[in-house]
Parts: sequence; structure tokens; C-alpha cells
Amino acid sequence: MIRITQLKLPIEHTREELTEKIAKTLRCGKLPFTYEIRKQSLDARHKNEKKFVYTVDVTVADEKKISRKVYNNNIMLTKEKPYCFPAPGEECLKYPPVVVGSGPAGLFCAWYLAKAGYCPLVLERGEEADKRKETVDRFWHDGILDPDSNVQFGEGGAGTFSDGKLNTLVKDPFGRGQEVLRRFVEAGAQEEILYQQKPHLGTDVLIGIVQTMRRQIEEMGGSFRFRSKVTDLHMENGELKSVEINGEERIPAQVCVLAVGHSARDTFAMLHKRGLFMEPKSFAVGVRIEHPQKLINMDLYGEEENDILGAASYKLTHTCQNGRGVYSFCMCPGGYVVNASSEPESLAVNGMSYQARDSQNANSALIVTVTPQDFPTEGALGGIDFQRNLERAAWRLGNGRIPVQLFGDYKKHIPSTKLGEIAPCMKGGYTLADVRSILPKEIGDSIEEGVLAFGRKLDGFDREDALLSGVESRTSSPVRITRDKELLSNIRGIYPCGEGAGYAGGITSAAMDGIKVAEAIGRTYSL
Ligand SMILES: Cc1cc2nc3c(=O)[nH]c(=O)nc-3n(C[C@H](O)[C@H](O)[C@H](O)COP(=O)(O)OP(=O)(O)OC[C@H]3O[C@@H](n4cnc5c(N)ncnc54)[C@H](O)[C@@H]3O)c2cc1C
Repeated sequence: MIRITQLKLPIEHTREELTEKIAKTLRCGKLPFTYEIRKQSLDARHKNEKKFVYTVDVTVADEKKISRKVYNNNIMLTKEKPYCFPAPGEECLKYPPVVVGSGPAGLFCAWYLAKAGYCPLVLERGEEADKRKETVDRFWHDGILDPDSNVQFGEGGAGTFSDGKLNTLVKDPFGRGQEVLRRFVEAGAQEEILYQQKPHLGTDVLIGIVQTMRRQIEEMGGSFRFRSKVTDLHMENGELKSVEINGEERIPAQVCVLAVGHSARDTFAMLHKRGLFMEPKSFAVGVRIEHPQKLINMDLYGEEENDILGAASYKLTHTCQNGRGVYSFCMCPGGYVVNASSEPESLAVNGMSYQARDSQNANSALIVTVTPQDFPTEGALGGIDFQRNLERAAWRLGNGRIPVQLFGDYKKHIPSTKLGEIAPCMKGGYTLADVRSILPKEIGDSIEEGVLAFGRKLDGFDREDALLSGVESRTSSPVRITRDKELLSNIRGIYPCGEGAGYAGGITSAAMDGIKVAEAIGRTYSL
């Protein structure tokens, strides 16, 4: 194939115009060819001439001759490297591998194990997707929290009620990232995610996708059990023997994939007690900020709306005078701030949007890195104590509703009493309050400095009535469960996996880690 990069066309271009541009670039006249778009990114530096920039792979006769004729830095011969799962190992597997958690890591691990014939058993503490959605809607409407089935826990994991952004910075030499996107397309996602610079699915699409993948896994011999929380592990001589479900049932197990996510605090405590090596890990905390989406579109596109580009997204970072970094995270264009709590009398926020990204507000987390030095207690679980202290303060401040503060009041350290022009776009009740009072001083100061700095980059970002809500505390796992180069923990048979174990951050990288762990199991065990 011939790969062409840096192919630029106005955003309003048609498919035919792209085809013509390719033919012109290859000077191949009427010679028939086919092509696949590999990448599409947006160049909006010149707001009146916004362009899409493409990388395409072209299949045409005599490609060597053509590429020699038109050779330059943006045109080269290329070869597709298909993804391949390893051949089965030698060690005999007496029982089906157990996968704990049906988030992206667990789901993709189970998918590739099932495809390879290992008939995995997936244990999920929460409900299957449809029931879970009802439970989450009830929580957002009435404030009734189910600690085992909520925005963090249930079929599809934490990512199900999200914006479903799929971009990741993880390197992909083995093609696992492309595999993840292909699986999503096979399960119902739109083809464009295969090449968009910032692909996203939206909650409304994600729910269907995780259910389809479950059915595919079941058709390939796997099985799922919901409302099945792993409450204990039994080991002998440093080797796994069985897992306990819901504090009562024991099932024999030789292999167990721990894909429990960043919020499984009770499970982390159990694993720590059972002697799994784990360490405290840095993460980030802060607030979520809301602006009118039209303001962000104007800043980034030079127009309030653009039907082709949809809602604009931003990524901002700033290093504060106190040396801490503050940055935007998990930005949700045309989205909602959600009550993403999973523990009673604790409140954590996050963001989500539907595929259309059509709410009136843009929101994102504004967060500051915290390290074990910031944690109130020593040891592997210190970060959980740090999160809990913040979340309990947020719950008390809002009396169970999301506390919200205008930036003007935030700067004055006073509670807000009335809104400005911006109305909150939220899932879950809210109350006006002094959000800054929840945060440790250095974090609170860093966020103020950050918003002012971002206001110099994006006009209106630091307006007095911008809305801040809190607390954003579940940005990644507070622990890392140690694993060796075979991806095994210090207990033989146990494979820490995904975000909760400290090896991923986000839907795609968690899914990629799930595939990686499935490969490690495949390389070791025979069918
Ligand atoms: C509201 C929200 C929005 C987000 N938006 C995005 C986004 O747009 N893009 C992005 O890339 N990332 C986003 N994220 C982060 C993303 O969801 C996570 O990075 C990803 O889901 C991690 O995948 P995982 O499989 O490692 O863990 P999780 O998705 O957290 O899944 C872990 C699963 O394990 C289950 N579990 C836990 N303990 C047990 C137990 N003891 N027994 C049985 N089951 C158990 C849980 O119920 C859960 O279903 C968002 C997260 C949230 C909460």
C-alpha cells in the first residue's frame, strides 16, 4: 500500500473531493485504486479556513513505480501488520479463567480469552447494563445510592456512563489499540472512530456496545454473573486456589484477572489483607468547571456552532507558582456533570455526554496532581483515605447534593448564593455552596491560578459566573498492584489488570491492558 499523510481539505469537502485529491497527489490518472482513511485530524488555526488533515492508505496496481514517481516525505510504501493472539502455552488449565470486573479491561480480556477458546467466567458486582441504568437514573433523581451498582460499578464498568472518549497516549506497537476500536465498531460503534483524532462514543451508544460484546463472549463459550462481588481469595503456598463470591460461595480457580477499577476500595482492602503486594500511587484531584459550549466553540472555531465539527473540546495545562501542575481532564463537550459516587455519605463528581454532545454546556475536570506525601496515612491504602476525606467533606457540604460555586465567589472564598448566566447541566441534584472549602489550600490555590491562566488562553474561561462543582477525586487509581513481566502478581495465578491495578488510565488503555493480560494467560496455559 501507499501511505499519504498531510492531505489537507476544507472541512466541508465531499468524499469525492478526497478521492480526487488522492488521484492528483499520486498522479495516477484514471488508474483504479481503493483507499482507507487511517487518520483524520482538525487544523483550526485559521478559523476562516478550517481544514481536515488526512492520512490514507492506498491500494493501487504498480504501487512501487507510482511511489517512486511521486516520492516525498508525505508519500511512502507501507505494510499493514495484522494483530495476532499468541499460540496456547503448555501449562494445563483445570478451571475456566475468572475475570473480576466487566469494565473495559475485564470485558476485552474476556473477549480475547473467549475467542481463543478459554471459556472465561466474568464476575461483576454490579447489575447488567439495563438494570444498572435504572438504578443510576434513580440515584440521580432521588439520591438513593446502591453501593454495588452505580456510575462506577456494573456492566461495562466506570466507562459506561461517560463521554466515551477513546483517545489514548499509550503507544501501540502490537496493534492492540486498533483492535479495541475494531471491536467497538463490530459491536455497533460508528466506523469513523477507527481514524478520528478524538473518537468518542457517548453513553447512549456505549450501553448497547457492552451488551453486544457480552453476547459475543457468551456465544464464544464465556459466561457472566452479575451481582457477584468477589469478597475473598484463597491461596495455598503462594498460589491461587479459589475465589469467594458475595461472602458465601467459593469457586475453584487457578487463574484470576483482577480488573476491578479505581473505585473498588473494599476489594483493595481485602487484597491487601491477603498479602497481595501493592503500593500507594499518585493521582489527581480537583473540581469540574462548566462554561456555555457556544463560548468554547467561539474560542476554538471562531463561530458559536458548526454542524460538521460539533461541540469543540479543549486541553489546558499550567504550572503554578507553587510548583504544582493544574490541567484539564476528561473534557465533556456538550455534556453533563454527574454525581459519580459509589460510597454512602461520600460525593464524587465526573463528566459524561451523549453521542450528540448537545447539552448547552461544556465541562471538564480541573485537577492537580497529589502524591503519597499528601496522603493522611502511610501505606498502600493512604490514597483511598485522602479521597474519602475529600468526598465526605463534599457530601456534608451539599448534604448529599453536588456542591456548586461560581468562580467569582471561589476567588473570594465565599459560598455562592445565586447563579449568573450559566445554568448547571448536571445528573444528580446540586446546591450552591463554598466548594473551595473542601480542598486542601495548595490544591484550591492552584486551581484559582489555573483558571486565571486558562482565561488568558481561552477568552471567558475565567468569567465570574463559570461554575465549579466538586469534588473530582476518581481520576485514576490510588494504588498500584505489583505485577511481574508475565503480568503476574506475587500470588501465582492472579493477574492485576486495567486502571484499578494501576496500569491504565481511560477506556482504550484499560481495554488494551485487558488484551495484554489475555495474551499472557494464553502464552502460559493450554486450552
Ligand atoms: C463518569 C465517568 C466518565 C468517564 N469518561 C471517560 C471517557 O470519556 N474516556 C475515557 O477514556 N475514560 C473515561 N472514564 C474513565 C474510564 O471509565 C476508566 O478508565 C475505565 O473504565 C477503566 O476500566 P477498567 O476496566 O480498568 O475499570 P472499570 O471500568 O472501573 O471496571 C471495573 C469493574 O469491576 C467491577 N468490580 C469491582 N470490584 C469488584 C469485585 N470485588 N467483584 C466483582 N466485580 C468488581 C466494577 O463493578 C466495575 O464494573 C470515565 C470514568 C467515569 C466514572
